[in-house]
Amino acid sequence: MALELADIFRQYGPAYRQKYADRLLPSHRRAMRAIEQCRTPALGGQVYSCPQCNQTQYSYHSCRNRHCPKCQNDKAQEWLEKQQNFLLPVPYFMLTFTIPAALRPVARSHQALVYDLLFRASAAATQHLAQDPRFVGGQLGLIGVLHTWGRNLSYHPHIHYLVPAGGLTSDHRTWLPAHHHFLLPVKALSRIFRAKFLHALQRSSLANDIPATVWKQDWVVHCKPIGNGRTALKYLAPYIFRVAISNRRLVKLENDQVTFRYRSSATGQITFCTLSAEEFIHRFLQHVLPRGFVKIRYFGFFGSSQRLLLAALRLLLETDTHSPLPDELPPPSPTLPKETLLCPI
Ligand SMILES: [Zn+2]
Ligand SMILES: [Zn+2]
Repeated sequence: MALELADIFRQYGPAYRQKYADRLLPSHRRAMRAIEQCRTPALGGQVYSCPQCNQTQYSYHSCRNRHCPKCQNDKAQEWLEKQQNFLLPVPYFMLTFTIPAALRPVARSHQALVYDLLFRASAAATQHLAQDPRFVGGQLGLIGVLHTWGRNLSYHPHIHYLVPAGGLTSDHRTWLPAHHHFLLPVKALSRIFRAKFLHALQRSSLANDIPATVWKQDWVVHCKPIGNGRTALKYLAPYIFRVAISNRRLVKLENDQVTFRYRSSATGQITFCTLSAEEFIHRFLQHVLPRGFVKIRYFGFFGSSQRLLLAALRLLLETDTHSPLPDELPPPSPTLPKETLLCPI
């Protein structure tokens, strides 16, 4: 049988828990147990019997933990269906905001605070620049999702936003279409993002933990056109619910070492990474989010208090013959590999 994350956790999890004992976060302990017990007798199950052939089948319950790779597919489909209400018949962009390496240790030890700030600062920076009449001149709608990993399970927090190309005037009466291939200048956006993020961090309890270098360096912001919203959402949904590593990327578990594959962002080639089982578990657990942390957030006219406005906006755009309809838009550019399109990290 193919190697699964649960096999590694079942075999090496108990020793890991013993070694790190009271240093292990409760959220990490919960995720480990859930993954180890998912679809095993430990969680109980249900008996199905067929009235025609008298066959009975026993199926074990799933853990439903959001960090379990086996329990993610159903959620992606469910989420995708709900997003139909957010789709606008205009082109879409994907914006990606990353915090610099020097701030990652602070983020790792204060996850809820720093991730929350990352959302707020990036969304506020985007809306600020979008108000500039040279670009959009109005308020945008943003659907953001937090990712915390690089491709080899490294710690690399970043947020992807799905953004329709256009905004609303302040009186909410007029739609201002943005250019299909250009939304906002990323250099300016990155500077505003950095200023807002650091300003908020300075006012928090972490003021003394900010390394001086992060004020001077350029922060990374990407912006890419990604075609129509329906296509973008369909591609994005599995990525949104993906955990740090899927079972199919696991290659082998041998001599207490785990080998997995990933596509190198530098070369684009499939690369193999071998780690001790302990280090593998450690890397995986750094992507377990704080309990209850909301990793998908809606801003601007996608915000929860704006649902009536959004319905009116959809109606306006769907009846406006000047707006291109979804089916007339090209799919995401074929020159962009799927991986690059979705996550430039
Ligand atoms: Zn599960
Ligand atoms: Zn990503």
